Formats: sequence, C-alpha cells, structure tokens
Amino acid sequence: MSPRPAAPAVVVDRVACTGHGVCAGILEGAVTLDEWGYPIVHAGVEPDPSHVATAVTLCPARALLARRSS
Ligand code: SF4
Repeated sequence: MSPRPAAPAVVVDRVACTGHGVCAGILEGAVTLDEWGYPIVHAGVEPDPSHVATAVTLCPARALLARRSS
C-alpha cells in the first residue's frame, strides 16, 4: 500500500473566497494564485504554523481555514 499524500495546511472555502490573495502572500510556497487570483493550496508544503494563523486571521472573506492536525 502506498503512503497517503500529505494533507494541505489550509483549506479554502471556495464559495466564500473573493480572491484577495492575502493568503498567498503570507503562505508563500504553500499557496499560489491561479490566473484569476484565486488560491491554489499545495499539499506537502508545511508553512510555519504562526503564518497559517496569521493568514486565517487576515483573510478578508473569512474563507481560509487551518487544517487540524490529526
Ligand atoms: S486571502 Fe482569503 S479571500 Fe483572499 S484569496 Fe486567500 S482565501 Fe481567498
């Protein structure tokens, strides 16, 4: 059996997200923006937990959620 892929550090509520791009600026490498400015979350890139908390707090649409570690 192959190992499970790493879960992303954050999850985006795509209905609520308005494409401000704040998350990509804070979570550089873990989140990039698509051609319309909406976030793409990259699994396997573990950002600093304090940066995750900052990005969640500063998301103007409250669309960014921190993944709970299991
Ligand atoms: S900061 Fe929030 S609203 Fe802006 S792109 Fe990221 S998730 Fe979407």
